[in-house]
Amino acid sequence: MVPESTEGRPRRVALVGRPGAGKGTQGTVLAGSLGLVHVSTGELFRDAVRAGSPIGEAVATLVRAGELVPDELVVELVAERLAAIEVRERGFLLDGFPRTIAQAEALEVLLEPAGLDLVVELAVPADVVRLRLAMRWVCGACGLIDGIPLSDPACEACGGEMQRRDDDAATAVLRRLAEYDTETAPMVEWYAGRGVVVSIDGTMPPDAVTRALGEEVAAWTPRTRA
Ligand code: AMP
Repeated sequence: MVPESTEGRPRRVALVGRPGAGKGTQGTVLAGSLGLVHVSTGELFRDAVRAGSPIGEAVATLVRAGELVPDELVVELVAERLAAIEVRERGFLLDGFPRTIAQAEALEVLLEPAGLDLVVELAVPADVVRLRLAMRWVCGACGLIDGIPLSDPACEACGGEMQRRDDDAATAVLRRLAEYDTETAPMVEWYAGRGVVVSIDGTMPPDAVTRALGEEVAAWTPRTRA
């Protein structure tokens, strides 16, 4: 059982970690088991790029190269998504946002009077995620994440075409990892100072990570905010 958050309102959780730490896979499972809306900014941007919408055109080059989209644009996109009634009623699990201290500060303002309930860090060393990303294939139709297809290149869930992400190319991966160290790691520290971070060893087998995540979230009790 997951405890109710302080005010008895829907829970607000963020999943953070290096690219390739397992945020997408675990986020989908965790959001499902907690009944939260899964909000992945990376997915929202990739969808916008595929759809060729104005926002997609504005961010396409950055997203393909693995560079961060400017804070104002991301915050605007998230603000719009969090305003949806479904998200307000069910609560949410953010995946890939916030990624900088400026985004975290903007999110706290969006969520006033209370901020995020919990920030879950999936901890995986840089050399491990580099290997994972070199082997990552994603279904273009349903988003399933898998390793290198051995014989059948079709998605085992929906039959769609398995593809490589542009930003999983080696140079983009190095850039994304450097960005994590300079921008996101200090943000995790910033939240740690507010007493809302739990860290999970993301190098365990996926099932064990899922179990540990569920247990940590269930064991979490609201702390006093700084
Ligand atoms: P992800 O799937 O989370 O790795 O995100 C893919 C790409 O989307 C990133 O490399 C950025 O170009 C963009 N993006 C997603 N979330 C953010 C964010 N919070 N801030 C800036 N850019 C982001």
